Amino acid sequence: MIEVVIEDRCSGCGDCVEACPSDVLALGEGGKAVIAAQADCQTCLLCELYCPADALFVWPETERVAGVTAQQALASGQLGAFRRDHGWGEHAANRTNQHWRMGAIFERARLQAIELAAAKAARTEEGSST
Ligand code: SF4
Ligand code: SF4
Repeated sequence: MIEVVIEDRCSGCGDCVEACPSDVLALGEGGKAVIAAQADCQTCLLCELYCPADALFVWPETERVAGVTAQQALASGQLGAFRRDHGWGEHAANRTNQHWRMGAIFERARLQAIELAAAKAARTEEGSST
């Protein structure tokens, strides 16, 4: 789940907004990325991959918000680690791609998305029959 945007690092380039498949992120009034629809996050980490400023922090928990603060994210030393470990951008020359490590997390997220879609469809059906 996307947890936090480190505002001081964000340049407002919008790359994360464009990369997010679920429209979770948006550019706020101050021109910085903001989390606009956290519950829709698929934990796909594309935003982390595409952020050139390492300003986003996604926690590998797919079902709930962990509540990680900007300070905690900065102290973790993990900002940018996903991008680095995937040999993305400037890391391409000296890192091998470790994307296979994400398999179990993506599978949990996929199953959760299916459950959520089914629950939403059931609610819609319930509403239309009353
Ligand atoms: S982890 Fe994926 S779904 Fe969640 S905010 Fe980032 S790009 Fe969007
Ligand atoms: S990709 Fe990074 S720097 Fe660009 S808007 Fe998103 S958070 Fe800000």
